[in-house]
Amino acid sequence: MKIVVLKFGGTSVADVPQIKNISLKVKKEVYLGNKVIVVVSAMAGVTNNLIDLVKRMSDTPPNSEYDVVLSTGEQVTSALLAIALHNLNIKARSWLGWQVPVTSNKSYSKAVIEEVKTGPLLEFFKKNQVAVVSGFQGLSGENRITTLGRGGSDTSAVAIAAAFSAERCDIYTDVDGVYTTDPRIVKSAKKLDLITYEEMLELASQGAKVLQTRSVALAMKYNVKLRVLSSFEDLPGTSIIKEGKNMEKSEISGIAHSLNEAKITLSGVPDRPGQAAEIFGALAKYSINVDMIVQSSSINHKATDITFTIPETDLLTAESTIKKIQKKINFEKFITETNVVKISVVGNAMRTQSGIAKTMFETLANNQINIHVISTSEIKISVLISSDYYELAMRSLHSAFGLDRK
Ligand code: ASP
Ligand code: MG
Repeated sequence: MKIVVLKFGGTSVADVPQIKNISLKVKKEVYLGNKVIVVVSAMAGVTNNLIDLVKRMSDTPPNSEYDVVLSTGEQVTSALLAIALHNLNIKARSWLGWQVPVTSNKSYSKAVIEEVKTGPLLEFFKKNQVAVVSGFQGLSGENRITTLGRGGSDTSAVAIAAAFSAERCDIYTDVDGVYTTDPRIVKSAKKLDLITYEEMLELASQGAKVLQTRSVALAMKYNVKLRVLSSFEDLPGTSIIKEGKNMEKSEISGIAHSLNEAKITLSGVPDRPGQAAEIFGALAKYSINVDMIVQSSSINHKATDITFTIPETDLLTAESTIKKIQKKINFEKFITETNVVKISVVGNAMRTQSGIAKTMFETLANNQINIHVISTSEIKISVLISSDYYELAMRSLHSAFGLDRK
């Protein structure tokens, strides 16, 4: 039995005509003789509106109730699509997360999937019907609804594809694939036919929004055949694959940017063991994700400056946390900057090719763009620059690395 998973994002189920449109895509798969599991997001904008509703009710809602409200968006779309399929004489039913069930831990609003139970759906497939699963939803051990974090339907789809050893997991969205960079900013951006899991993981975690980062990590772990493709046009999309298969040979694969960045500098930090542990330990307590870190070397062994970046949305918490330990650490100044953007170039070729850093820094220098912070991984170089220049930086890097569409 061949199982395929098709996932449709919010813009693909934005209204009734859209849902009718995708029901035709589902029909096509059914006619090919596949068992089909469809995973749907909430209609575009709905999750944001639900968050707004909760916020208007309370600044500190119980997390579990927050998730009950948020999960309703996906409930609506799964049933609407099941109805649309009935209109086409295709037998289908909606499956809510708890009915599958997709079990998770109890980190409400950012729950982690524990297991996708396959028994009930396998039984259901004997009736030759299509399963339309509400994405984004889980069920905690406390028998309550959880949600998987923004963009979590991608992770639902991949987890389901892994659990059922699906032939493939197609992620339908409003773009026709993964691009070398954001085409709204760089007009000459190219669609990629192939990209490796590692590269996609870096691009997603550095700000590319096509796929939730967790979904890519999961696909890599379980070797799920993942594709990103358009709901609106019949195009081949982008396949996310293991390294080594006939990859395009350009130096780098893509450029990501992240606007949600804040830079913090602690100046005059006395130069003695344990200071960094103290600072980052305090931030970790509040689950603040620290990204780039640089420490200046002290010339006279007296004091250093420590600079790091965090999500801008965590800045207030970080500030109050660090100020609490100011006396203990005895640094001089706490300086923040939010007018910054992180630009990352990503490519597996970095493992073997030299000169990529040189090209990157030279290009920025030629455009008089100052670099605040640099960080690297095996297949990525990131720089933090002023947000005034990020579009210029992205366009010039895109050209410099030969990524422009011919
Ligand atoms: N509806 C949820 C969100 O907007 C989950 C998803 O669409 O993937 O974050
Ligand atoms: Mg999404």
